[in-house]
Amino acid sequence: MKPDLFQAPDYYNLDELLTEEHKLVRDAARDWVKREVSPIIEDYAQKAEFPTQIISGLAEIGAFGPYIPLEYGGAGLDQISYGLIMQEIERGDSGVRSTASVQSSLVMYPIWKYGNEAQRQKYLPKLASGEWMGCFGLTEPDHGSNPGGMVTNFKDMGDHYLLNGAKMWISNAPFAQVAVVWAKDESGRVHGLIVERGMEGFSTPETHNKWSLRASATGELIFDNVKVPKENLLPNKSGLGAPLGCLDSARYGIAWGAIGAAMDCYDTALRYSKERMQFGKPIGQFQLQQKKLAEMITEITKAQLLTWRLGVLRNEGKATSAQISMAKRNNVDMAINIAREARQILGGMGITGEYSIMRHSMNLESVITYEGTHDIHLLITGLDITGLNAFK
Ligand SMILES: Cc1cc2nc3c(=O)[nH]c(=O)nc-3n(C[C@H](O)[C@H](O)[C@H](O)COP(=O)(O)OP(=O)(O)OC[C@H]3O[C@@H](n4cnc5c(N)ncnc54)[C@H](O)[C@@H]3O)c2cc1C
Repeated sequence: MKPDLFQAPDYYNLDELLTEEHKLVRDAARDWVKREVSPIIEDYAQKAEFPTQIISGLAEIGAFGPYIPLEYGGAGLDQISYGLIMQEIERGDSGVRSTASVQSSLVMYPIWKYGNEAQRQKYLPKLASGEWMGCFGLTEPDHGSNPGGMVTNFKDMGDHYLLNGAKMWISNAPFAQVAVVWAKDESGRVHGLIVERGMEGFSTPETHNKWSLRASATGELIFDNVKVPKENLLPNKSGLGAPLGCLDSARYGIAWGAIGAAMDCYDTALRYSKERMQFGKPIGQFQLQQKKLAEMITEITKAQLLTWRLGVLRNEGKATSAQISMAKRNNVDMAINIAREARQILGGMGITGEYSIMRHSMNLESVITYEGTHDIHLLITGLDITGLNAFK
């Protein structure tokens, strides 16, 4: 792969909206991605392997629990810093960002928000340091966009719970020590359970043959009469709102992350357009190529503003789920379109692993589907503005 010459676009001087701390956190993440992710990621994506050697570095830049309080090992940062870290990591690779998002927003967040003090003390510091990795089991083979239909269930056996069922498409599953699993009790109410690797009847087969997020490990979670200790139930929130609360936090991070992928594609295409000569001129001098690049920077700038504002609302505790849906949907769509246009600017070179664009493009096909598909987020906005539910 070519050396990482990334230069972040900031067309509207958005750095002026950031604090010194935001910039320090962002720049540390940016330097780390250049040093530790860019040189190896193409190789790992080609091999379809997650580079486990970067786990400790992810922990050091605050990617595991950026907004979790320091007392639990988190970085104690605000929501904009969290977003900027996700942006920088996804600038490197969406699969690596997925690992960080799952660990922070889908594993640490529910333990912090819905767990008791003993659970927080037991799990959060080890998850923050990367000593333990986690995964989040919501999606099932027959219940994706409609998680409320889940059939994974547990029965109260007196001194323990007995868990049965299966989850599918679970990021980090093949190597995670800890799984936050959503399952129904005997009355049909959804609860979160912490399931640990090694519990009898619990297995995590890997999902192979993905053309997308190849540097992220994906798998199933299978529960065959797993005895889960009663102290592993998350006691402070139940119902479908509990996993959806985690998704809000993760989707917010994805909205920032997608900007990172888009910035990398734009920056690569811009540089290439000034270097590649055809018909005796740099291709960037042709109007058709300028149109692509000008539209890219316009869309990136709009997404940056939308997302920064969403971060301010999150910091104030005012962002709604529907606002987060809008940003996730808009930004991933923006990134996938930019990846496609950028790929064309590179001509044949665009399809090779010499450049990051094709990998981003393939990765974004997962990002536009997981954590609520493109269509589902549109329906969330539709419901929010009309008050009429088009889901059912
Ligand atoms: C690489 C990867 C990693 C993932 N990681 C995780 C993870 O860590 N944990 C986890 O729990 N899940 C994870 N997922 C699962 C992901 O969240 C689901 O794939 C997603 O929610 C969509 O579910 P589905 O694939 O079953 O599609 P379906 O729900 O079957 O949807 C198929 C199509 O139908 C459309 N559709 C569905 N319902 C409606 C409706 N009411 N109106 C209009 N259109 C509709 C959808 O928009 C979509 O286009 C991951 C997925 C991928 C691909």
